[in-house]
Amino acid sequence: MSNTTETNQKGQGGLIRAALFGLCPRCAARTLWDAPAAFAPACRGCGLAFADYEPRGRGLYFVLLPLTFLLIAGALKLDDLLRPPLWLLLAIILVVVPGVIIGALRLMKAALLMARLRASGVVA
Ligand SMILES: [Zn+2]
Repeated sequence: MSNTTETNQKGQGGLIRAALFGLCPRCAARTLWDAPAAFAPACRGCGLAFADYEPRGRGLYFVLLPLTFLLIAGALKLDDLLRPPLWLLLAIILVVVPGVIIGALRLMKAALLMARLRASGVVA
């Protein structure tokens, strides 16, 4: 395995750990997320100010809008193929939609956080 590949895999591991488990990119304490898809103001372990690097505003629409269309298309296709009762379809939607949206937001915010931290030299 080449050095570049190892570095790349480490970076992706850090991204996944930050997105899924909320681990601080600098000290690996579980302090990144304060709400389902919002950073804590700062790491309680090492004091890294997450809020300074948190992506906000319209940039997130580029992820959320296509995802919303895909979720709507998926719900319509599911209804078309299986014809589940309305209560079951609504239950599936109420579980799947927040999970997918929060997961995508966490992944995108963690990726942007890692990129911004690397660009500013806070983490390697
Ligand atoms: Zn930390």
